[in-house]
Parts: sequence; structure tokens; C-alpha cells
Amino acid sequence: MTEQGGAHHIVEPDIVEPARSIPVFGEFDIAVIGGGPAGIAAAAAAARLGRTVLLIERYGFLGGMGTAAGVTNFCGLHANVHGDIRQVVHGIADDLLDRIAALGGLNEPHLIFGKTKAQAYDTAAYKIAADDLLVSRGARLLFHAYAAGISMDGDRIDAVLIETKSGRMAVRAGVFIDCSGDADVAAFAGAPFDDDGDSGTLFPTMMFRLNGVDAEAAGEAWRTVPMLMDEAEKRGIRFPRKGAILRPQKHAIEWRVNVTQLATANGRAINGTDALELSHGEIEGRKQALAFFEFLKANAPGFEDSYIVDIPPQLGIRETRRIRGAYSLTRDDVLSCASFDDAIGVNGWPIEAHVAGDVQWEWPDIPNVRGYNHLPYRMLIPARVRNLLVAGRCASMTHEGQSAARVSGACFVMGEAAATGAHLALADGVMPSEIGVTKLQETLKTNGVFLGTDL
Ligand SMILES: Cc1cc2nc3c(=O)[nH]c(=O)nc-3n(C[C@H](O)[C@H](O)[C@H](O)COP(=O)(O)OP(=O)(O)OC[C@H]3O[C@@H](n4cnc5c(N)ncnc54)[C@H](O)[C@@H]3O)c2cc1C
Repeated sequence: MTEQGGAHHIVEPDIVEPARSIPVFGEFDIAVIGGGPAGIAAAAAAARLGRTVLLIERYGFLGGMGTAAGVTNFCGLHANVHGDIRQVVHGIADDLLDRIAALGGLNEPHLIFGKTKAQAYDTAAYKIAADDLLVSRGARLLFHAYAAGISMDGDRIDAVLIETKSGRMAVRAGVFIDCSGDADVAAFAGAPFDDDGDSGTLFPTMMFRLNGVDAEAAGEAWRTVPMLMDEAEKRGIRFPRKGAILRPQKHAIEWRVNVTQLATANGRAINGTDALELSHGEIEGRKQALAFFEFLKANAPGFEDSYIVDIPPQLGIRETRRIRGAYSLTRDDVLSCASFDDAIGVNGWPIEAHVAGDVQWEWPDIPNVRGYNHLPYRMLIPARVRNLLVAGRCASMTHEGQSAARVSGACFVMGEAAATGAHLALADGVMPSEIGVTKLQETLKTNGVFLGTDL
């Protein structure tokens, strides 16, 4: 049995926990850990394929960083395909988008630097739509359940151990899909991963939303506010980062603000798997949000009467552990729009690196190239642990590859493909790494996934 080890030994010696037997909550074909975009797509796809599936989520709602960290915006659904900006992520994502739109919570896609598009949504609509998607397809949801360890059977996971208000329990499954964003289950199980916590992951951001904005007066604040910030810097005002992103939500009196940046005392990114650093980041993030709000109110037209309507439940974490899998998606793959024989869908988002004090963008040579790279099935396959797949921002990617393919669009693709791979493995009585790729691609295509293999 492996347990999550505390990073900080505050008082020695450790306590030895007595062995105890744990009730089994249930046994499923597939267990999905984490309900962000990857986990939503994985659980919905597994249920659609007729599998019994349980999604285990530590919060009381779905959406992951998209709701819990207030992201409120889908990137990576679109790509600039030789100058034609179009949606390239479909499959389960379409079903989810339709449900959010039906609730009146989806913006029209907006341009990003004139090169691609992103699409904002209301958090409440996303939560309701995601519940509805999973429940209507027959997936089971267990909220307020934190995966805290695993029980191994040789090189396979026998059960995931969860902490809940009703006590500690075990969940058995044929295949586990780790969509925790932090590769928690993979780490518990001893699958190798990269964790650049000490050297440089992407910096986290505390998002916040304002209400009471006069949208007409605010105009294109995403363009003008960064200029106001430059002027303020000349007057000696310091901001945690450049590259402020301010955009209206569905109802234009409400805006999201993506501008804070959380670092440790020695200037590196807060480590999203370290409880003490996270605690510092939450407090400091709220302080930064307040300071920036006061700057906007005093300096930016349209924001004079605004107020902070929401600081989300948690600090926004972009990157922690990334598994070292059968293939790691790289910077070059993104910039060269790489093709793979085992394509499971595409990523059309560029490299968006949240570095100290700034956001740096690197794009493929659009419109001369097709504007997206394939995502290979191998990036979901961890080493050592046979009945586990890992999807989402903790899949197998280099730091730079993750700086692009971490966004929601690619996470939907990975989640749906992981569930489809798990389904085929169960059907054929093999491990997920042993399935036939052609069958996987055919099944994905039948379910509306755009594989991007025709260009
Ligand atoms: C500030 C910020 C701004 C961003 N802006 C955008 C944007 O505009 N557009 C965009 O598309 N992307 C954006 N991203 C990136 C994107 O939100 C994430 O990369 C994406 O949500 C990752 O999806 P995921 O499913 O892999 O993981 P996550 O969204 O992190 O979801 C993981 C889920 O697993 C749960 N979980 C974690 N550990 C456990 C556990 N041990 N047990 C049970 N449950 C667990 C979490 O509660 C969470 O619900 C942004 C990210 C941040 C932080």
C-alpha cells in the first residue's frame, strides 16, 4: 500500500498508522480520478461505450481548474487551419458545449491575437451541464472523495483508496484513469514522472471575476489595460506579471481577470503539490487580486463601479507532475504541427509559457502550416503500472509541450481517448498499452472525434 507522503516533517518522529481493513465502495469497469475537462470527457465517454464507470472528485462539482480555479474560458477547441480558424475538438466536447449553450452560459468564440479563438463560459452553467452530461449517460459520480492512496496487485492497481466524509473506502476497477491534474494516482502507484517543482513549472494564477463593469466604457480593456500597466510601472508601481488577460463573460457586466502570479520567496513558481506552498499561494493570490482590482478601479475606464464578485475556491495550478510515458509531447511537436500514427485527436493551442513576471507565446508558422499537432495515444500510457492511463495536464509531455497541450481542448481529447482505450482493453482482455490503434481510431471517429489525419 502506498500513501501520499507529507512533504514537510514539522515534528519528528513520524507516527506509524495501524493497519486497518477498508470497506470497498464498489467495483467498476473503469474508475476516473478527477473531474476536470479530462475526467469529464473520460467518464462520459466510458459511460457512452456502455462501461460501468465511477468518477471520483474531491470537490462537490465538476470542471477542475475550469470551475474550481475560475478559468471560465476554453482554449484549444479551435485551430488556425491554413488561415481558417475552426473548431477541431469535437466528440464529447460537443455534447458538453451544447449543454452549456442551452443554459445560456456560453459566449461566442473570441479572437486571440487574431490567430486563433477561445470561448468563455459561465462557471455555474459549466457545473450544471457537466453533471447533466455524466448523469444522463449513466456515469456514477462520487463527490467529496479524495484519492489518497492505492493498493497494488503486482504491477496493477487493485484499488484506489479514497477519503470521504463517510470514512476511508476503496474503489476497485479494471482500468483506472488518472485525471487528477497532478498525476496523484500514478505517483502513488510508482509510475515515473517529471516534477520541475524546484526548477520551474509554469507559474500559478489566482483568477478573479468582477461584476458591475460598464462594458462600453471598458472597451477593449484586454488591449488598453496592459498599456495602463506599462505607464503605471514608469511611476514605480510593480505588478506580479505582465500580459494581463481581462475579458467579458456572457453577460458583459461580468469580467474575468487573469493577471496575478504566485511565487515562493526565492522567486520560483509555487509548487501545486506542496500544501504549505499552496497555503501561501492562496493568501498571497487573494492579496494580489485585491491590489489589482484597486488599480483597475482607480485607473481603467469602465471599472469605476465594479466589485469583486468571485475569488474561486482554489489557486489556479497550471502544471505539477507530468508522467514519463510511452511518448512525451514536445515543444517541437507543437511548433512543427507533428503527426503521429497513433493520433487520438489534435491540439491547436500554441505554447503559452507563464514564466516569471510574464507570459510568452510561441506559435507554429500559421497560416503556412495546418495549425495543430496530433496527440498520440502513447502520451496517456505510464511506465510500470499496467492498468492505468493518465489524461489531462499531467499526461506525458515535456514542460514546453505541456505549456500548449494542457489547455481544456486537448484535455477533452485525452480524456475521451483514454476511456476509449480502456474500453477496448477490457473488451479484448488486454492491457491499455496492448490495444489495436486502428480500432481505437475507428471508435473515436465513429463517436465524432476529429483525428486530424486527413491534412
Ligand atoms: C489560472 C489558469 C488559467 C487558465 N486559463 C485557461 C484558459 O483560458 N483556457 C483553457 O482551456 N485552459 C486554461 N488553463 C488550463 C486548464 O484550465 C487546465 O490545464 C485544465 O483544466 C486541466 O484539465 P485536467 O482535467 O487535466 O485537470 P484539472 O482541471 O486540474 O482537474 C483535475 C480535477 O481532479 C480533482 N482532483 C485532483 N486531485 C484529486 C484527488 N487526489 N482525488 C480526487 N480528485 C482530485 C480536482 O479537484 C480537479 O477537479 C488555465 C489554467 C490556470 C491555472
